[in-house]
Amino acid sequence: MTDCIFCKIIAKEAAGSFVYEDEQVVAFMDIRQANPYKVLVVPRVHAPMIYDLTDEQAAAIMQVAVKLSRVIREVSKCEGLSVFQSNGRVANQDVFHFHLHLLPRHENDNHASRRNTITDRATLDKLAADLRAAFH
Ligand SMILES: [Zn+2]
Repeated sequence: MTDCIFCKIIAKEAAGSFVYEDEQVVAFMDIRQANPYKVLVVPRVHAPMIYDLTDEQAAAIMQVAVKLSRVIREVSKCEGLSVFQSNGRVANQDVFHFHLHLLPRHENDNHASRRNTITDRATLDKLAADLRAAFH
């Protein structure tokens, strides 16, 4: 767990641009902004994959994801929103701490070509602040 980058972000030992936090769930900006306002929703406690979530964590994560999706839609003016989550190397899971992706989508956005672009921290902080300000 000490080498888990998401645990380090949650513990504020690594940089993170936070959108939402409660006792169970943390949401922060993905450093790869395939489209602006892409957010990751994670359990506060380390759980590698979907199989490892408790019922309570699963419910809390989805409730936050739904609320944040509405905020992302409002702020990003997206026409659509992709929600995805990967488990295991063959599914292209990159960080082994459960994370749900919320990706705003736009007509012809071709997001795959921008998937690996790392966004600078100042921009991530600004995007996170926009979402926090709109969170009801
Ligand atoms: Zn972790």
